[in-house]
Amino acid sequence: MSQKSSSPIFRFAPSPNGLLHLGHAFSALVTWRAAKVLAGTALLRIEDIDTERCKPEFVDAIYNDLHWLGLDWPSPVMVQSERFDSYAAAGNHLRDADLLYPCFCTRSEVAALATDSDPDGAPLYPGTCRHLHRGEQIERLQRGDPVQFRLDTKAAAARTGMLTYSVVGPLITDRPQIRYARPERWGDVVLQRKGTPTSYHLSVVVDDAAQAITHITRGRDMEPATDLHVLLQMLLGLPTPIYHFHRLILDDDGKKLSKSRGSPSLASLRDAGWTPDDVRRALSL
Ligand code: GLU
Repeated sequence: MSQKSSSPIFRFAPSPNGLLHLGHAFSALVTWRAAKVLAGTALLRIEDIDTERCKPEFVDAIYNDLHWLGLDWPSPVMVQSERFDSYAAAGNHLRDADLLYPCFCTRSEVAALATDSDPDGAPLYPGTCRHLHRGEQIERLQRGDPVQFRLDTKAAAARTGMLTYSVVGPLITDRPQIRYARPERWGDVVLQRKGTPTSYHLSVVVDDAAQAITHITRGRDMEPATDLHVLLQMLLGLPTPIYHFHRLILDDDGKKLSKSRGSPSLASLRDAGWTPDDVRRALSL
């Protein structure tokens, strides 16, 4: 007897720390189109765990820009800053499993000691605090030294064994390819930051599961991070969605568009007279 499969659920999960640009528009349009191809739903999620850099006016701008592009989504929208308890619970689960350890290193100490880089080009954490004596951990925690909690990635990967996930091409309906995850290349990533019980990697997997996301469409620059997400899903007993990695929108210098590089915002293009069709044309969609 065939099992009734539920309808596919996609998501677009921008961070409101600036205005959306053409790269975001591409990601959103690809996501909504893929949802349509599979007769599924596209959800919006606001990823604002960085409460210092994220601003309510950028949340409003996300709604405006997406509506302007002709996109719609079900309410209520999931907002990460309202879900710190869920992330703390997931973090505690990993702590109870002895997979998180306190790290007291500053960013500059990590940079000074690192001999390698992670897939994003950042200094790879050399594992300095991984073997701190329990007594020293307790003493420093009690003293109130600034602390963050890192995943013992090697130990975690040893527990889960070989990890695979499915990747589909631009047609979304293509036959999935099986990919092997290599989370170890990230080293011991921070999962709970100073003053925040979570990190991007932890909250994204918790929320994808909470929203029952079946398909994740994201840029190719996110392929390596997906390896970590698959590891966390396995450790937390969460399902692994199917992934599609879309092409990146590059500027004239061949660099990925970004807020920090001052790429023109959708709002500024709109003010300059662009229409949603102009956006689609510019993105070859
Ligand atoms: N908030 C992330 C971003 O804006 C989401 C990326 C993802 O998890 O696919 O890049």
